[in-house]
Amino acid sequence: MAKPLIEVKDLTVYYGNTRALSNVNLEVEEGEYLGIIGPNGGGKTTLLKCIAGLTKYKTGTISIKDKNIRIGYVPQFSNLDKGFPITLVEVVLSGMINPKLKPFYRYAQKEKDRAYELLEKVGIKSLAKRQISELSGGEFQKMLIARALAQEPKLLLLDEPTASVDAKSRSQIYKLLGRLNEEMTIILVTHDLLAISSEVRSLACLNNTLVYHGGPEMNETILTQMYGCPVDLIAHGIPHRVLRHHHNGVHEGGEEEC
Ligand code: ADP
Repeated sequence: MAKPLIEVKDLTVYYGNTRALSNVNLEVEEGEYLGIIGPNGGGKTTLLKCIAGLTKYKTGTISIKDKNIRIGYVPQFSNLDKGFPITLVEVVLSGMINPKLKPFYRYAQKEKDRAYELLEKVGIKSLAKRQISELSGGEFQKMLIARALAQEPKLLLLDEPTASVDAKSRSQIYKLLGRLNEEMTIILVTHDLLAISSEVRSLACLNNTLVYHGGPEMNETILTQMYGCPVDLIAHGIPHRVLRHHHNGVHEGGEEEC
């Protein structure tokens, strides 16, 4: 069998005394579109950052088949200050790999053309000259995706790209990711349970440790184990409510309050 693109073995990660991940083993094939779900604090961001090489760990290994693979990373909390006076196209340009980049560097026309192409690809070319302070949540996320694509990645990691994004933009982002998956491997951390059933090809559930990795059709036992509360079964591609009404509480349809 071909070697997987990413092989995570016995990964355990601590922040001080907090164990964020315990003995995680996970293989991601080339061309995969993997959704990672799990409760808050379950270690999703930590795993993504370890794969991206942004968080150090002492126990376990992460092997990436192609050492030179370019990785695009769309962080959950961008360090971009929304009040900073910069246009959308400038943000995308800033994501381009250019070892010669110096202060006051002038981008070549071909880099500008490429930035516009990327904005077109994510569906916001008409906003290219807009200040980032004037973008909606969805437009901002699309811009971050375009910036990550400027690296010409073969592996795209996204951390909750649809959090605080309206329903229309959310579905546009999922369509975009589906198209991008034809060119690259994608790992998507999401709270959006609808996404897992209808968009991704496979699913991993993290609750400190890996609870499940397999097809996107979940069963109630796995979800209950993961969230510690009863849930309605998720049917592939069929709109659904995720949580059944709780005896002790309040909610129907969310997943945070267990
Ligand atoms: P998730 O993305 O699933 O919400 P995280 O990976 O962000 O989970 O966090 C996993 C655990 O590690 C949580 O208990 C969180 O509080 C802790 N944690 C994450 N980042 C840090 C950090 N920089 N310092 C200390 N603890 C952290």
